[in-house]
Amino acid sequence: MPPLAQKAIRADVHLEILTGCPASHSPNLGFGRSKPEWESDTMTGTLITSEVDFEAAGKHSGFLRVPHSVHRSAYGWLPVPVVSIRNGDGPTLVLTGGTHGDEYEGQIAISNLARDLAPDEICGRVILLPMLNAPAAEAGLRTSPVDGGNLNRLLPGDARGGPTEMIAHYVEDVLMPMADYAVDLHSGGSSLFYPPTLLRGEGHGADERAALLGMQAAFDLPFAWVFTSGGGRQSTARTVMGAANRHGVVTVMAELGGAGVVTPDILARTERGLRRVLHALGMLPDYVPDQAQGTRELNVHGSIYAYDKGVFEPLKAIGDDVMEGDIVGRIHHPQTPVMAPTEIVSPYTGIVLCQRALAQVVRGDAVFQIAADGKSDQS
Ligand SMILES: [Zn+2]
Repeated sequence: MPPLAQKAIRADVHLEILTGCPASHSPNLGFGRSKPEWESDTMTGTLITSEVDFEAAGKHSGFLRVPHSVHRSAYGWLPVPVVSIRNGDGPTLVLTGGTHGDEYEGQIAISNLARDLAPDEICGRVILLPMLNAPAAEAGLRTSPVDGGNLNRLLPGDARGGPTEMIAHYVEDVLMPMADYAVDLHSGGSSLFYPPTLLRGEGHGADERAALLGMQAAFDLPFAWVFTSGGGRQSTARTVMGAANRHGVVTVMAELGGAGVVTPDILARTERGLRRVLHALGMLPDYVPDQAQGTRELNVHGSIYAYDKGVFEPLKAIGDDVMEGDIVGRIHHPQTPVMAPTEIVSPYTGIVLCQRALAQVVRGDAVFQIAADGKSDQS
């Protein structure tokens, strides 16, 4: 494998709309494509084996086998579903959902894509993992019931760690080195709710910035949360996005609903957005995108937290304006009815981006996230 530094970010790839897969369109050939899987495993030290040959053309479905030797299954493994679709020349997109197991739009949208995409529609390679932390997703939990691991806080992982750390290591050292682009789909999970929101960095350098703006425009979600720091190859983030950044992969995330439910219109926007992104990357040339609706760029100020235990009554809704000093919610104490509710005061001025979905709160729970219109990279 060439050193990471040789994997250039190709801004020309993402904005070019192809009409086919000409052999000459091979912007990323040589970037980790020719290495057999067994060699990759040997080099990275992962104990996870893939049933899917990522080098093979066509559509292939199987499991990453995460070794898990337990009382009831001495030689057993935990199955992480994976589908690879490859055709012709073009970039590699790694598409992940179920990084948190209680976030569902991504799990459905990626599964639908895995079934619906025919190899001859694709230029390049799409690697789809709808349940990246499969034990957590099986259980419908944010964290793994096997080892308690929060996958999106464990990158770069540990090849010899617990199952969640092993998956994290596989993402960091096997999947991201193959990728040119990565999209990690999240939602607010069980405890929060987000409107459809793309998350991205500002980009390090003009090429990456152009590529990120291209992906944002293609995904066409109502909001974008733009990080004003971090990212790049020096990223220390313990997230899938951090892993992508460390490997020079152009990467976005999305927050898509939450509250432990699937919202049909958010799912539809997710599926539309993924196809539009594939098209914008030149990987789904025959798709005809509809008119973009536009994205409001935001920078997040921070979260507002409960400092008391009780029942949370929101006084603001997603999208509402908030002024510093506003009372944005109350915490009620029905076990002591005569006790006045505790007022929650916003330390920020902005708009409500995300709201807690569960009424019960204890001290330390985030109840709102407040953002403001972006003043980042649009100059
Ligand atoms: Zn998440």
